[in-house]
Amino acid sequence: MHFKLHHAMLRVGYNVPTLISSTTTYSIPMNSGNLEPLSDEERAIYEWQLSVPGFGVVGQTKLKAATALVSRVGGVGGLVAYQLAAAGIGRLILAHAGNVKSSDLNRQLLMTYDWLGKPRIESIIRRLKELNPRVEIVGVPENINVDNASRLVSQSDVVIDCAPLFEERFELNRQSIVHRKPMVECAMYDLEAHLTTFIPGVTPCLACLLPEKPPTWTRQFPVFGAVAGSVACLAAMEVIKVISGLGTPLSGRLLRYDLRTMEFHRFGISRKSDCPICGHLEERK
Ligand SMILES: [Zn+2]
Repeated sequence: MHFKLHHAMLRVGYNVPTLISSTTTYSIPMNSGNLEPLSDEERAIYEWQLSVPGFGVVGQTKLKAATALVSRVGGVGGLVAYQLAAAGIGRLILAHAGNVKSSDLNRQLLMTYDWLGKPRIESIIRRLKELNPRVEIVGVPENINVDNASRLVSQSDVVIDCAPLFEERFELNRQSIVHRKPMVECAMYDLEAHLTTFIPGVTPCLACLLPEKPPTWTRQFPVFGAVAGSVACLAAMEVIKVISGLGTPLSGRLLRYDLRTMEFHRFGISRKSDCPICGHLEERK
């Protein structure tokens, strides 16, 4: 996300003062009995991560059965998709409009120089397939909007919000609540980044944190590819964790860090009972 979420949240009066730690685990519901076993080739390719304690063959099999929707596959979303493809996710639904521009190339690592002027989604699919031809990719040459969001979210197990426009973010949030899908929220501006994982009925949603678009937001923002990539890699781990049940996701917590100073902080965040998007959901544990 390309705005100062933390500052914006303070500006709208949201209370994020608490540094916390937690051991809460979470994973999306998945019927283990229907999972397709790993092939010998898959066991060979994922050998090094299969030895991660708490992940193993069961985690890898769940990842293979899962579908992730990435909203905008640019500086942040491109690296999320790349890491998920490398890790062996079964299916990616990728939404990104437009043609490759020169100014994409400092951070949008799935775009290449030879693809300038051609559709971004084609470059994205080509690069991901070069890395992992087994991953099923649904390429959508559109950004998230009110016409496609419900359909795309309903086909996913988890959604990842990497869009620069608030209209897209708010629509993705709305549909993730309607369809009860976890949403990994990535935000960055300059050398700062923010990350959290929204779980409907358990944690706040985006509208709880940010009821409306911050007035100071601008479409173009200062960014290094390495900052976008850092939050993308963390977000990809959040996706792997909520699919497999590995570790503790950032649910109910907001990670904020500043790569100018290398300071990392986590803040506790809570649901708003009067949130117009998620306030009606019954509290889940
Ligand atoms: Zn909410």
